[in-house]
Amino acid sequence: MASPARVDLDGNPIKPITICMIGAGGFIGSHLCEKLMAETPHKVLAVDVYNDKIKHLLEPASQPWADRIQFHRINIKHDSRLEGLIKMADLTINLAAICTPADYNTRPLDTIYSNFIDALPVVKYCSENNKRLIHFSTCEVYGKTIGSFLPKDHPLRQDPDFYVLKEDFSPCIFGPIEKQRWSYACAKQLIERLIYAEGAENGLQFTIVRPFNWIGPRMDFIPGVDGPSEGVPRVLACFSNNLLRGEPLKLVDGGQSQRTFVYIKDAIEAVFLMIENPARANGQIFNVGNPNNEVTVRQLAELMTEVYSKVSGQPPLEVPTIDVSSKEFYGEGYDDSDKRIPDMTIINKQLGWNPKTSLFDLLESTLTYQHRTYAEAIKQAIAKPVAS
Ligand code: UDP
Repeated sequence: MASPARVDLDGNPIKPITICMIGAGGFIGSHLCEKLMAETPHKVLAVDVYNDKIKHLLEPASQPWADRIQFHRINIKHDSRLEGLIKMADLTINLAAICTPADYNTRPLDTIYSNFIDALPVVKYCSENNKRLIHFSTCEVYGKTIGSFLPKDHPLRQDPDFYVLKEDFSPCIFGPIEKQRWSYACAKQLIERLIYAEGAENGLQFTIVRPFNWIGPRMDFIPGVDGPSEGVPRVLACFSNNLLRGEPLKLVDGGQSQRTFVYIKDAIEAVFLMIENPARANGQIFNVGNPNNEVTVRQLAELMTEVYSKVSGQPPLEVPTIDVSSKEFYGEGYDDSDKRIPDMTIINKQLGWNPKTSLFDLLESTLTYQHRTYAEAIKQAIAKPVAS
């Protein structure tokens, strides 16, 4: 029996499309490709410089979706093939960017180039060729909350108007130029404004996604295993690395910053709705996060310690965390976002999307993956110097 036709949120049949996915080999791209191959008839032109995270989709060539995914090893900085791929596709999704805080103050030029300059041709080719664009931005464009400027015990700090981040209302509040974290936020903000202007002046059909700390399997790298040993990934991978090595988790400046974490698989559902409901998603900027999963970084460390002990069967360290200064950990010019609660009104209204997975559940499945994937390699890496 033929499977029932797939329909969009308005009951219209969904036609198979071709998607040019730039940055398909990264954390988000790999999850997106996986679901597109398993659950839809869409085709993907996967553009990236690496493909390790999507190798399982590309090989063996006998995979049922083999004729629906093509990998193009292209650096979008300097490759004339990019425009041709965008022309071949119905939709372009741009995920390519440097988005790791350790890079913002140590590689500020690469950060600005990758988030603004390198994205420019993508926007231009989409606009000139009348192609739809889903551009990945960041919750960082909001910067600091209004409430962060109030005295610590001021009652208005508890008022959602002073901290909830709304796409169509909240200001973007960045720190001074020498705090180079904000170069990332500023580059992302300018590309958002440019895309918006292309929409207003030239009719570009766009959707902007602002991810709020999406986490899950395949995020970043474990230093010394599948990334440089001196590299500093984002907090999930930093803490996973510490747990795998039996080291205390490092809390930057007391671990007081607050974050909301959303499970990658929930977030990917939201992107799917955007892909398949263009009439509802075009012209929109969407927060994608989980306002119910808020913790301080210290609480995250405590929870990850507890969950890792459960999934690995190893008792937690007696002293599970240590404090480090941001200068020591990230170097000169680091700054932090204080609190990130996404407002969900727009995505709820347009796409009916809500995140489902609790922080405990998402950490349990993610740390189970980390343990299975890395524990043995870490054991060997630790044993090596002794053996030689
Ligand atoms: N952080 C930490 N220890 C680490 C790594 C990160 O305390 O080993 C903190 C970092 O200072 C920030 C938060 O964790 O307050 C989240 O950092 P991440 O790199 O994941 O990205 P961000 O949410 O800041 O963009």
